[in-house]
Amino acid sequence: MNVDQILSLKGRNVVSIEAGSSLGDAARLLSERRIGAVVVVDDRQPVAGILSERDIVKAVAAHGAQALDQPVSRFMTGQVVTCTGHSSINELMELMTQQKFRHVPVIEGAQLVGIISIGDVVKQRVEEIEAESQAIKEYIATA
Ligand code: AMP
Repeated sequence: MNVDQILSLKGRNVVSIEAGSSLGDAARLLSERRIGAVVVVDDRQPVAGILSERDIVKAVAAHGAQALDQPVSRFMTGQVVTCTGHSSINELMELMTQQKFRHVPVIEGAQLVGIISIGDVVKQRVEEIEAESQAIKEYIATA
């Protein structure tokens, strides 16, 4: 199973926010959409950064509630690790484990075409393991 296959099941919609929007707006967006991270866009590039709930917690812990009036660009991660539709689930699991993040935007050409979260990866692996287990049970029952 690769990223393209997961995207065709879950959809290619990516929730994004402008780099100049406030951190408070980003927090409301995450809450309303029930997600853990947004891709940050500006007029020069499809992925200017990524902002996750952890960045918001860190910003409020360091600067108090006034951080919520500051622009997203101040607290986002600017160096975003991305993948392509051809990346495998195993590669993504390795990437997320080693680099300690839970979201990877998907890029094709210069376009943002989706995002994979750790929840998508775990769901996929659980389904694969269940299918393998079922196949083994059937094999044993008929042997
Ligand atoms: P997460 O575990 O995805 O909530 O993010 C943990 C930290 O890693 C936050 O500081 C994020 O801004 C950052 N982060 C999340 N995804 C990525 C990514 N694909 N590339 C680089 N940094 C990321």
